[in-house]
Amino acid sequence: MITKQAQVMVITPHPDDAESGVAGTIVRWVSEGKDVIYVVCTNGDKGTSDINMKSDELVRIREQEQLAAAKLLRVRDVIFLGYPDQALEDTPEFRKEIVRLIRMYKPETVVTADPYRRYLWHRDHRITGQVTLDAIFPYARDVLSYPDLLKQGLHPHKVREVLLWGSEEPNYHSDITDTFDIKLAALRCHKSQVGSNPSTDLEERLRQWAKRMAEGQDFELAEAFHRVEIRR
Ligand SMILES: [Zn+2]
Repeated sequence: MITKQAQVMVITPHPDDAESGVAGTIVRWVSEGKDVIYVVCTNGDKGTSDINMKSDELVRIREQEQLAAAKLLRVRDVIFLGYPDQALEDTPEFRKEIVRLIRMYKPETVVTADPYRRYLWHRDHRITGQVTLDAIFPYARDVLSYPDLLKQGLHPHKVREVLLWGSEEPNYHSDITDTFDIKLAALRCHKSQVGSNPSTDLEERLRQWAKRMAEGQDFELAEAFHRVEIRR
């Protein structure tokens, strides 16, 4: 099986989480020549407060919004797994799907939601993060984990690092001072989530958040992660 490697794989629970969590850093990676791909786990079909919105219409809208944001960030591929919103479970099938993609694209870096955020945290975020960590180690790594994947040419792969957004224990701060405007523009692609009125306070809220993430650093704006390095 020949698939072009992507150095970075972003595994996101819903359309729009990747832009909130890591878009500013993606811009830097792409400018350094790295290929970034998205795996969008759910179709986001519950993400509305519009009582007249139908789920299938929302799925279509959110897919288009996600593709527009990814295009703006020059993300190479977007893979939609299409699980229903609010319905992700830690199942063998979901885990295997993530393992399959990791073995196929062989990322050095995987980015996803921190599953260990306490109290109120979207269940889909918790499960996406947990299943992704399990998929990376040990399932994607071990040769005997999935004999059928091996037969398909999907050999074991060791991810080098995991970056978890939404962490209560950030230990890695990425400077997004110069890429903040593109992050904001990418978030604005998600009109069904952030509204279509450019005069909303999204920019100010995002800037304050990015300033908080940069506290203690020698730059102004950041995205912050808990970084897990995987030793060879
Ligand atoms: Zn989400």
